[in-house]
Amino acid sequence: MTEPEHDTIFGMILREEIPADIVYEDESCMAFRDINPQADVHVLVIPRTPIRSLAHATRDQEVLLGHLLSVCAAVAVQEGISDSGYRVVTNIGRDGGQSVEHLHFHVLGGRSLGWPPG
Ligand code: AMP
Repeated sequence: MTEPEHDTIFGMILREEIPADIVYEDESCMAFRDINPQADVHVLVIPRTPIRSLAHATRDQEVLLGHLLSVCAAVAVQEGISDSGYRVVTNIGRDGGQSVEHLHFHVLGGRSLGWPPG
């Protein structure tokens, strides 16, 4: 069954209805700084397609998912954290702590990150 259309604050960023500090964009995705950074570098990488979460991605979106991860790595290079190390995270659903229902990968770095997450 096709998911009903939905919109989030990230949709508004993609349509440039609200501002964002964009660090990268191409035809299928956008990367911008998190408004509430949890590390010196905290960038969100999102698809232009409003997929609700990784759990909602379909097999025919595998190429897009791979591209998003590739962009995460490129953003880390651009932000100067590739050599020191960084973390790529996607939160899914209630227990995963997801607050915006538009798939996004967090790219976090610039400090030593704890493990396991809380
Ligand atoms: P999550 O909790 O994994 O769903 O992550 C959502 C992230 O979006 C949080 O880290 C928020 O700080 C961030 N966020 C929410 N609104 C904005 C916004 N307008 N611009 C940039 N980041 C935002």
